[in-house]
Amino acid sequence: MSEISKLNSIDDTIAAIATSIGPGSVGIVRLSGPQALLIADRVFSCRQGRPSDFKTYTLHYGHVVRKEGDAREVVDEALLTVMRAPKSYTCEDVVEISCHGGMTAVNAVLALALENGARLAEPGEFTKRAFLNGRIDLTQAEAVLDIVRAKTQAGLRVFEHQLKGELRSFLDDIRRRLMGCYGDLEAVVNFPDDAGEQDGKRSVSARLREACISIERLLAGADQGRILREGIKLVICGRPNVGKSSLLNVLLGQERAIVSPIEGTTRDTIEESAQIKGVPFQIVDTAGILEPRDMIEEEAIRRSHLHIQQADLVLFMIDASMPVDEQDKKLAESLQGIDKVLVINKMDLKPSFALADARALFRAEEEIVAISLLHQQGIDDLKGAILKKALHGQTFQSKGLLLTNIRHIQALRKALFEVNRAVEECDRGLSLEFISERIRFAVDELDRITGRSADSDLLDHIFSEFCIGK
Ligand code: GDP
Repeated sequence: MSEISKLNSIDDTIAAIATSIGPGSVGIVRLSGPQALLIADRVFSCRQGRPSDFKTYTLHYGHVVRKEGDAREVVDEALLTVMRAPKSYTCEDVVEISCHGGMTAVNAVLALALENGARLAEPGEFTKRAFLNGRIDLTQAEAVLDIVRAKTQAGLRVFEHQLKGELRSFLDDIRRRLMGCYGDLEAVVNFPDDAGEQDGKRSVSARLREACISIERLLAGADQGRILREGIKLVICGRPNVGKSSLLNVLLGQERAIVSPIEGTTRDTIEESAQIKGVPFQIVDTAGILEPRDMIEEEAIRRSHLHIQQADLVLFMIDASMPVDEQDKKLAESLQGIDKVLVINKMDLKPSFALADARALFRAEEEIVAISLLHQQGIDDLKGAILKKALHGQTFQSKGLLLTNIRHIQALRKALFEVNRAVEECDRGLSLEFISERIRFAVDELDRITGRSADSDLLDHIFSEFCIGK
């Protein structure tokens, strides 16, 4: 059990709507805590008896009822599930009432649970209880949030691994190895002898180096992890009418943006998630405006610039049938220092410039792809160029243990820094106390990741990101 769990006594019972808000066939109200079954007795009427007598992992048909004296008002027809402590999501008694979906029935059932002794749960409080009760660590709690928000199948797979505790096991293993080194150094400090000290430092240094290699290997995949979580940010820009919205629609495989021969149809940026050959992307279609005519267009330009600055890759589009003009050149200039692919669209029309003119817009090493969105030609080549450029020639890895969370990455980098320093100090023959202290700092960083030593501010921050009912 973590330090924090000892500090928190969880003696009230929480309730919340666990399904999403809006029309749906079923809505679930979830209760967790020592009074969950008692509250269920008060609000649920069933031929099979009282919920507090039901066995764990059983499902019962009945009615949610408001009882006042001898009067009973049926609120809704429902199924009630019982999951007794400690084998439940929160490790507490959990009751789930599945009633009719839509807002009215679930709200009425929730209100009744609150009238009968439950407290409205805070965002993420069910998962927080699972953490505080020691069933999951912080990396697994964060995986729950990631699973709920996962945008791609590949991302989902990685988060499922994290939920199973693979990152936790990795970190526990590193921690065990570091604490082993720490223990050995402490033993030498307590029973000093010169030869023992030299041998101890040599062995500790070698083991610390191995730990560094393991951490470095995991950190090496962090870029791919970020892609899985957020997608590669791909921004399409170019002057009006070159075919940006048409390209967005082709990459999405659906008519998302309005395609029109009328200039300035897209007046704001459009952002959508898509996969290109299995790799997740966040694609932004910019407005392509250079000279704003009103405040809306001024804002659209500001947003376009912001997206371009944050882009992993920009697709700069020009129209093959129009001469490369000042607007194209101005836009191209604004993209200096940003990874990009030059896309020449409308190759089905009579070309009005030579490829060399287009080349002159950018440095020689930039990728150029000629396409016709009208005839769907060159799309596969374009996808290939996007992947090559965005992944810097590497293959995309979406299996195994991957770091996807910036909090984990930063803490692990700090841990690596401390372990590296400890190795250096061992090799330089520094006092054992210094080396031990470095190892402790590294272990503290690992403990912050898993939540062994996370403070309440960090926990509040993490769980406030959750939705209510999770
Ligand atoms: P945007 O303003 O850059 O977003 O451009 P749109 O996608 O709205 O396209 C502007 C016009 O160009 C529309 O009428 C499209 O049908 C047309 N268009 C787009 N791609 C092609 C193409 O490859 N060939 C031809 N001939 N027309 C295209």
